[in-house]
Amino acid sequence: MAKAQRICLLGATGSIGQSTLDVVATHPEAFEVYAISAFNQVDKLVALSQQHQPKVVIVPNQEAKQKFISLWPGDKGLPDIRLGAEALVETAIDSEVDTVVCAIVGTAGLASAYAAAQAGKRILLANKEALVASGQLFMEAVKQSGAELLPIDSEHNAIFQCLAQPMQASQIKEIILTASGGPFRDTDISILDSVTPAQACKHPNWSMGRKISVDSATMLNKGLEVIEAKWLFDMPLDKIKVVVHPESIVHSMVHYRDGSILAQLGHSDMRIPISYALAYPNRVTNQAPEFELSQLCQLNFRLPDLARYPCLDLAYQAMNAGQQSTIVLNGANEVAVAAFLDNQIKFTDIPRLIALMLEQNWSQAVDSIDAVHALDHEVRSKSAARLAQFIA
Ligand code: NAD
Ligand code: MG
Repeated sequence: MAKAQRICLLGATGSIGQSTLDVVATHPEAFEVYAISAFNQVDKLVALSQQHQPKVVIVPNQEAKQKFISLWPGDKGLPDIRLGAEALVETAIDSEVDTVVCAIVGTAGLASAYAAAQAGKRILLANKEALVASGQLFMEAVKQSGAELLPIDSEHNAIFQCLAQPMQASQIKEIILTASGGPFRDTDISILDSVTPAQACKHPNWSMGRKISVDSATMLNKGLEVIEAKWLFDMPLDKIKVVVHPESIVHSMVHYRDGSILAQLGHSDMRIPISYALAYPNRVTNQAPEFELSQLCQLNFRLPDLARYPCLDLAYQAMNAGQQSTIVLNGANEVAVAAFLDNQIKFTDIPRLIALMLEQNWSQAVDSIDAVHALDHEVRSKSAARLAQFIA
């Protein structure tokens, strides 16, 4: 019998983390949880560790480690507890690890994902921010090390499933990313400045972490995904289209030059793309509900209204301007979304801040991951300072 794939799951306590553990637990003969990490929710990390028996757990600091130990039931031996961002990198490249699932949210996930790419691991990438901030460097590292990069973002996973391998770019007319349109798809635009974080996080079709839920409401998420698709599939931007598809049944499509459009359909359940990537090139069962084609009433598609979704337009602008601008787009967005979730700014201030930040001059070259982090850091501090003026 083949050896189980040993998995390092970074961001285990999140929405993607939980879906990954669901799939892994269904196939213990195929997958073994070697390491899991969490940034907060130590109690949840303890419960997950009890259930999945990882050899390694990663927590942010000494305080979290003490809490983990104090919550650990006495009858079982403690796992190896590692600390901080360095431990995320160290464990991602651990020789015991076959597969790294990158499910940390935001640029906090970049260093470990990049390290896994350099180390030639099999990478299941949920953390789209890593490609947005460092696409060129990341893809070069994948190429040089021979790492295997498998997308688990549902749209990219769908495209991956619709592409013949190896992919032949000349046969593709365009890639079509679907977007649900988020909770404000039909809301009167004039009241978007008064919507609340709770309303923004109430996604009509998917259950996700808070940051990506707000990104879906602004459609900056789709903008990040356009950039992600550009890097993953080496496609020019003018061949990547977005359509609003309210039902979220078609997860994305590839339009070929002969007029054929290949699509992947299924429930809005992340366990489907995750199980595909985990078992690739095989397919395994998962806990997603059965899809009843006979109950499918309609599939609607329409072009996105950029007046409703200015963030989508900003993402195309940033990608056209280059890597520096996508770092600015992403960093400014993370600061703005955190402030919005904290009730400090309005929903409509999110694109406002991003646009202001993109207009500034940013001189640094981004030819290394350290340089990416330095620019990201500068963008965040300038964005926070600018936001303070919005609030005042
Ligand atoms: P989440 O907020 O539910 O979970 C985030 C995880 O990251 C948690 O385990 C948290 O402890 C960890 N984390 C947060 N900040 C950290 C830090 N500074 N250092 C180390 N760890 C940290 O997020 P999510 O919805 O699971 O999304 C995770 C990633 O997957 C994001 O990049 C998101 O864009 C992407 N993604 C999510 C979905 C989805 O359905 N949730 C779909 C596609 C892509
Ligand atoms: Mg997605």
